[in-house]
Amino acid sequence: MITNRPSPEDFEKQSIQYLIQSLDLIIKNSEGEEFVDMVEVEIDDYWKYHQGILNNSLTLLFLSLENYLKKEICTVSPMLLVAGEPKKWAKKNSDRKFSELFIHPFDDLLVLYTELGLGNITEQTASKLEEFRLKRNQITHGVLEEHITPEYILESFYIFMAHIWGHRQWWDQLKKHIYNEPLFGIYDTDHEKASVTTYIDFLVSYLGKSKTGEILGVDLKQRNYFCPSCHYWLNHEYEVTDSKYAVLKPNSSSSTNLYCVICDSNYTVFRKKCEEEGCKGNVIGEGYCLTCFAEQS
Ligand SMILES: [Zn+2]
Ligand SMILES: [Zn+2]
Repeated sequence: MITNRPSPEDFEKQSIQYLIQSLDLIIKNSEGEEFVDMVEVEIDDYWKYHQGILNNSLTLLFLSLENYLKKEICTVSPMLLVAGEPKKWAKKNSDRKFSELFIHPFDDLLVLYTELGLGNITEQTASKLEEFRLKRNQITHGVLEEHITPEYILESFYIFMAHIWGHRQWWDQLKKHIYNEPLFGIYDTDHEKASVTTYIDFLVSYLGKSKTGEILGVDLKQRNYFCPSCHYWLNHEYEVTDSKYAVLKPNSSSSTNLYCVICDSNYTVFRKKCEEEGCKGNVIGEGYCLTCFAEQS
């Protein structure tokens, strides 16, 4: 028998960890961009100089994708992942650990994924995947032919999330795994839950609100409001960042329901004018104007 077989959850966790690390590499190193401003280095030159970081980010995104396919195939059976003739998998009358077996390479996983009816890959996505796979191979072989840019990685990320993971799926998975493994451990859990706002800030900065909203399954081109919960918890001790990704659902002038995509919660809001001078906001929730976040009496 083949023992210690993995579960879809094992691959999902792996896939999300790679995904987070791929984004984190660019986010963390973008912090150096402030320094770049100081010494007046063009941002393109900065990244040209830091190709190693972008190569790693691309490789991690590829690994994430590969593990996503494994996860999906594993929902049918982990044995479908194993390469080679089944009669050679295990020795007679003895057990063998799953980890000792060879797993199909990416191309074969992709065929299994589509042939098992687990997902539909359009021609456009398929050619993007092929291009991405070739770039990953060039990196692995140390012969990358052109410069990688953060825009290229983020654009690829967008295509994979929109057309392979599916709108919102990746976001739910990312939050689930981040919440299970706290980022900081020093703050409160409410703060940690709101901290994923920084990922959305980052995606919006590269992809814009239209594409970011599309992969989150929410229309961010609508007027955005502060989330009464996320914004509060993110800034109640130290100012971290605005959490302003909540939208009225339905989107009407009398709507009293506000939905935040960060905490995935709905809030009842009151439609009355903000007390703050100069603010035209009229969406009030939990004692705050959700346009300017001034406290209301
Ligand atoms: Zn929220
Ligand atoms: Zn206001």
